[in-house]
Amino acid sequence: MKTARPPLPVVATRGARLILEDGRELVDGLASWWTACHGYNHPHIAGALRKQIETMPHVMFGGLAHEPAYRLAKRLARLLPGDLDHVFFAESGSVAVEIAMKMALQYQINRGVGGRTRFLAFRGGYHGDTLATMTVCDPEEGMHSLFAGVMPAQVIADLPRDPASEAALDALLAARGHEIAAMLVEPLIQGAGGMLPHPPEVLRTLRRLADKHGVLLIFDEIFTGFGRTGSLFAMQAAGVEPDIVTLSKALTGGTLPLSAAVARRHVFEAFWSDDPAAALMHGPTYMANPLACAAANASLDLFEDGAWARDVARVSAALAEGLEPCRAGEGVVDVRTLGAIGVVEFEAPVPVSDLCARFAALGVWIRPMGKVVYLTPAFTTPDEDLSRLTSAVRQVVGVD
Ligand SMILES: *Cc1c(COP(=O)(O)O)cnc(C)c1O
Repeated sequence: MKTARPPLPVVATRGARLILEDGRELVDGLASWWTACHGYNHPHIAGALRKQIETMPHVMFGGLAHEPAYRLAKRLARLLPGDLDHVFFAESGSVAVEIAMKMALQYQINRGVGGRTRFLAFRGGYHGDTLATMTVCDPEEGMHSLFAGVMPAQVIADLPRDPASEAALDALLAARGHEIAAMLVEPLIQGAGGMLPHPPEVLRTLRRLADKHGVLLIFDEIFTGFGRTGSLFAMQAAGVEPDIVTLSKALTGGTLPLSAAVARRHVFEAFWSDDPAAALMHGPTYMANPLACAAANASLDLFEDGAWARDVARVSAALAEGLEPCRAGEGVVDVRTLGAIGVVEFEAPVPVSDLCARFAALGVWIRPMGKVVYLTPAFTTPDEDLSRLTSAVRQVVGVD
């Protein structure tokens, strides 16, 4: 707090824009950390929320149930590939990852497999800020190297991008697989760890190695889910199904906090027992909050006509074209685009607070992360606002 500039006071949002207290309008290049995929204040989501708040804002989900949650669970199961059919709701991404980790641990215990108490995760990954999720983030680049030693160390590996790293991961699993309950990965692109993409073959390799070594595979689609990479879920681009997938961020179209951990049938069946001790004991207070579920159902309505895919392609092309000249910028090592994600990577970390202020002076809201200046705008951002975003990046990079 002491070293960063004071935050900008926002009084309203509209479409792809933030309206500041002093009347300025900034084009939002981040869609509020990737949540507001349809733009802000979408009338369909707002209408659904108004209706729900008058009927039932919240009830506990222990021993009680409601239609918004059942409807959402059914729709997610239908949209997700294969038998990813069993939905557990929570309130934040980190908690969904914690639940997925807990499910994986207890899956092994319930099947009578002992000793699988560790996780395998990958360099460059990000899975949340709570204590357990911190242990599966990138140990160096992540925000949490400070806390090394507080929690049990997990097994961290390189993504199997080539035959050598694939053989190394296979060998690591042969040696330590008996300790590992599950491996976690953000499919197609590692987000908060630096917007680092990998080819779909990597996910097929992970599926093969997970099966070979009896380890569950968890895809964390909290960033990639709901169209961001160009397919509704990143796993679809690879044709690979994990055992558990986590969802959040764009789930409610950027209106309310909600997350889900969705398991395949065989995972669910390990908990389906006459022995109460086999149950998954977890119950966040606001689990399946009806308002959040209503917002998510309304957001899914907006995905139904398929217009999002054309919009993601349009945003993708605008980002690729608009950012390409940044390659010539000083200190720039890469410019890349995947779906509605545009990235300019520098050789060293950038001064975040200074750059935010420069971007705001140019009429845009962009908050870099580590070595990357990136754009993840709402899919509905108009062309002229997209060019304002890319032009601001070119000016700050010094190529315009
Ligand atoms: C944001 C994010 C999380 C954490 O979600 P929170 O809602 O901030 O707890 C976990 N995994 C990935 C891939 C994310 O992008």
